[in-house]
Amino acid sequence: MANLRNKRNKNAEGNFFVDNSCIDCGTCYWMAPKVFKEDDGMSLVYEQPKANQEIKAMEALFSCPTNSIGYTGARVEMRKISKTFPIPVDENVFHNGYHSESSYGAASYFIQRENGNVLVDSPRYSSVISKNIKEMGGLSLQYLTHRDDVADTDLYQKDFQSKRLMHKEDISKKTEHFEIILEGEDDYQIDDDLLVITVPGHTKGHTVLLYKEKYLFTGDHLAFQRQNKHLYAFKTACWYDWDTQIKSMEKLLNYNFTHVLPGHGAPLKSNNSNDMKIELEKCIDWMKK
Ligand code: SF4
Repeated sequence: MANLRNKRNKNAEGNFFVDNSCIDCGTCYWMAPKVFKEDDGMSLVYEQPKANQEIKAMEALFSCPTNSIGYTGARVEMRKISKTFPIPVDENVFHNGYHSESSYGAASYFIQRENGNVLVDSPRYSSVISKNIKEMGGLSLQYLTHRDDVADTDLYQKDFQSKRLMHKEDISKKTEHFEIILEGEDDYQIDDDLLVITVPGHTKGHTVLLYKEKYLFTGDHLAFQRQNKHLYAFKTACWYDWDTQIKSMEKLLNYNFTHVLPGHGAPLKSNNSNDMKIELEKCIDWMKK
């Protein structure tokens, strides 16, 4: 829990505040943009939430990877919200919240499917998430986009005996025990509605997951930049090769999807897959500059 003694001076007066342990991961800005914003390399509460924003602000509090968001209001409100994760995104796709510091606050997602539920990247371990996922049918697969976002995947595996899947090029000593290790540059159809697409660049073994030709879970390969309102990739955090990442981005033009669900930043939804392709082309042009 955030520490009142370390509260940042510039927070707007009220129940919510940010303390100076913030690592500027950006999670609260996209989850509750009417409450939190970046200021001088950290977050702050620039406006206390109005009644219709309180839930969003509280969800951001539970998702903050460093517990840097504090709340001085009634504890009963906090307890209520803590039980509502994962947060519905669209249809049977959910955002887990509870971001982990070890993945620099990356978002992870949950897909509830008849053929077995899937965790996309790993949240920080939480008995709340585990219990709620159990009630939603458990987990059969943990899909990891790349080496940076594995967080507490082993603890969830213990709870659910689910298989963990990642590309060989991103496997390290820490993850060599994963049950399914993909190789090469071909795509992998892991079920009728689930396609793993190899997209080396950010890391050598980065992959993205296409669900129902609609939802693309992109890890650190592709994100949406809210300030400039365009699809984006992290050039200063490209650990393998930027030109290779551009080629992988061009490869994505061959697939249909309407939602981008990234590790960092807000999800992006377009009206149809052609509109998304136009956005992707703009991103590629920007990457080549
Ligand atoms: S979620 Fe937490 S660490 Fe991330 S920017 Fe907000 S206060 Fe800082």
